Amino acid sequence: MKRILYIPFDHLHPDFGVLNAADAAADLIVMVESQRMVSGSNWHKVRLYFLISAAMHFAQEMRDRGFTVLYIQAPTTIDGLKEAQQSYPGLPIWSAEPSSHRQFHALKEFGVQYVENDFFLTSRTLFAVWADRQKSYLMENFYRAQRIRLGILVNDGEPEGGRWNFDKENRLPPPKNYSYPAYLVHESDEIDREVASRLGIDPASAWATTRVGARRQLDYFLEHHFPFFGPYEDAMTTENWALHHSLLSPYLNVGLLHPSEVITAALKRYAKGDIPIAGAEGFIRQIIGWREYINGIYWHFDEGFKDRNELGGVRKLLPLLKDSRKTSMNCLQHIVGEIEERAWTHHIPRLMVLSNLALLTGVNPQEFLIWMRENFIDASDWVMVPNVIGMGMHADGGAMMTKPYVSGGSYISKMSDYCKGCAYDPKKRSGDDACPFTTLYWNFLIENRATFSKNHRMAQQLAGIDRLKDVELLQARAVEVLAGLDRGDI
Ligand code: SF4
Repeated sequence: MKRILYIPFDHLHPDFGVLNAADAAADLIVMVESQRMVSGSNWHKVRLYFLISAAMHFAQEMRDRGFTVLYIQAPTTIDGLKEAQQSYPGLPIWSAEPSSHRQFHALKEFGVQYVENDFFLTSRTLFAVWADRQKSYLMENFYRAQRIRLGILVNDGEPEGGRWNFDKENRLPPPKNYSYPAYLVHESDEIDREVASRLGIDPASAWATTRVGARRQLDYFLEHHFPFFGPYEDAMTTENWALHHSLLSPYLNVGLLHPSEVITAALKRYAKGDIPIAGAEGFIRQIIGWREYINGIYWHFDEGFKDRNELGGVRKLLPLLKDSRKTSMNCLQHIVGEIEERAWTHHIPRLMVLSNLALLTGVNPQEFLIWMRENFIDASDWVMVPNVIGMGMHADGGAMMTKPYVSGGSYISKMSDYCKGCAYDPKKRSGDDACPFTTLYWNFLIENRATFSKNHRMAQQLAGIDRLKDVELLQARAVEVLAGLDRGDI
């Protein structure tokens, strides 16, 4: 053996990262299941199940391809690498650049040598070239540049369908009297059952743990959901936990699928000609736009970005986030319940319900970030830090987004069926049955008016304060709501 190739649990692809140029006769593969990862935080069991089972399956896949693989359980990753070095002394350790700042520094300090991280379509260097030329980091500008650079849905430099952006068509509420395609069930095997039993849960049939299973999910999405993803991507409903979402983010984020595979398959399906451009564009934007942009931003800003708290949020994490029974707000009962069950809900509940609530209540952004990191199956550090600190909680003072994403109950009411059976009324901002989102939205604008007074994108929202006739009542109600949320009984 000439080299140790260290494969983190989010680099599980035989053709990318350090495995790109691996040789079974000369390279020893080492994977480390660290106790720090398993029990160091309050991780959601489904998340741990997915990460460990996918890694163990991948170790087996590489053995089947003729590699010698050491799957080591150790207190920390570094301890595991030391153990591998004791068994194979003198070998240099190589890895693809890790996907988090913390691991990047820790492994580098230990002496691991890096090849470029190519689990994205945009290298960190390439993103920096784009970012350095921007006045503000508008995702839309990045996305258009990506379309042109990658030659996707572009003809002679012009966007397919005549527009870059079909957001207007892609904001439909959930359809009524509608039947969704059946959920794809992923059968468990012996490795899944062993990991699940170790964690004290049942195997999670919503999630695949192999590359074959991830590919099945991709095919299923393209066959049954692709045309409808775009139009309904922002909708929320009690009738179906996945709607037309692809459910591919866990696989993309651990490397079981590479974005190039997803894009190639999606474009091939689109080429059949029966998928409207709005639907196709909505999905492709997520893969080549948002996902790449968020990773680029994570690496473009320094490690201290995750500690920013420009609006000074100090509230403790709300009890309802840890236990969905601690609220009678229908939207949150439902969404947190879904997360408890399968460690996933789509981007709109994450942004416009959970993060919105954390921002409106002044929860400490770092506490909320930890909760998000622990509870989502696809919660890589590079995903959650920009999404929570920059986008969800505006804790970066607007370095990433030009305005905070805040809204009252009216947005949730428009985009979901949650409000129908709720104890609260989304139209009311004061009184016992006022929707907590609506009350807190206005309260937030009033309290932060001076902070945002120079932000022209907030002008319309702030001007609404002057039309309110019940400011005192709503502020009194806001005090009650915040106390009730802290107690976990509202
Ligand atoms: Fe949520 Fe308010 Fe609607 Fe109730 S009324 S479901 S609390 S948005």
